[in-house]
Amino acid sequence: MSLFITSLNSGSNGNCYYVGNSTEAILIDAGICCREIEKRMKRLGLSIEKLKAIFVSHEHTDHIRGLAVLTKKYHLPVYITSDTIKFGRLRLEKKLVRSFKANTPIVIGDLVVLPFPKLHDASDPYSFIVDCKKITVGIFTDIGAPCEQLIKQFKKCHAAFLETNYDEQMLEEGNYPYYLKKRIRGGMGHLSNKQALEVFINHRPAFMSHLVLSHLSENNNCPKLVQELFNGHAGTVKIIVASRFEETAIYSVGNSDNHELTQRRHPASSSQLAFSFV
Ligand SMILES: [Zn+2]
Ligand SMILES: [Zn+2]
Repeated sequence: MSLFITSLNSGSNGNCYYVGNSTEAILIDAGICCREIEKRMKRLGLSIEKLKAIFVSHEHTDHIRGLAVLTKKYHLPVYITSDTIKFGRLRLEKKLVRSFKANTPIVIGDLVVLPFPKLHDASDPYSFIVDCKKITVGIFTDIGAPCEQLIKQFKKCHAAFLETNYDEQMLEEGNYPYYLKKRIRGGMGHLSNKQALEVFINHRPAFMSHLVLSHLSENNNCPKLVQELFNGHAGTVKIIVASRFEETAIYSVGNSDNHELTQRRHPASSSQLAFSFV
C-alpha cells in the first residue's frame, strides 16, 4: 500500500495539498478556487470522486479561498473547528461540517488523520499527519516555530510537506515594513529555510523518502536557493519544491522505488499521461 501526495498549490497565494491511497483521498486546505483545484487534479489524472473530506488548518484566506464552493459542489465533509469557521467568516452547509479535536484521530476509510496544534497567528491552527497502513505523511506549513509536537510528528513521517517560507537574509534586507518582518519571524508567523533545515537534519527518520518544501515566500525566498540548500543534506530523501503557481507531480510514498509517478508536463499533453490507480 502506498500513499500518493501532491501539492496543488503552495504559498501565500493559496495552499491545497492532496493525500490519498488507491480508493480514497483528502485535501488539506482549499486555498485556491474550486475551478483550479478541478483543473489541476484533472491534469494529474486524479479523480475528484476519490475525495472523501477536506481538512482545514486555519482561517487565513490562502487556506480557505475555494472551500465553500468545493464542498458545496461535491458535498464533501469539512473537518474544521468552530473558531476557524467563525474567524474565517465561512458559510458552510451545516450538514457538511465536522469538528475535530487536537490529538484525536479521525478515520476516513483506510486513512487516519491526526490533527495537532501549531504555533501560528490564527484563531485555532493545526498541523496534520495522515497514516495509511503504517505509511505516514505530514502537512506542516504556517508554523511560527518548530515546537515539540511538530518534532515528534515529523519523526514519524515517510514524507512531509514542510514550510520553508523565507531566507533570513532576504527578509532582513528586503523592503517589507518592520511590523511585517516582525510578524513573519516573530515565532507565530512562518518557518525560515534555516529553521526547516534544522528540523530536517536533526529529526528526519531513516525511512523518510520525500520532503516537499512548501509555502515559499514570493519576495523573501528563491526556489533554486532552497532546493540547493536542502539537496546538500538530502542523502536518499527526494527534495521537491512546491510551486506557488502550479501543481507538483504525484509522488508515491511507501513504494520501494520512491519515484514520482508522473512527470511535469504541459497541460495539453495530459491525455497521454492520464494516470490511474490500480
Ligand atoms: Zn498560509
Ligand atoms: Zn497562515
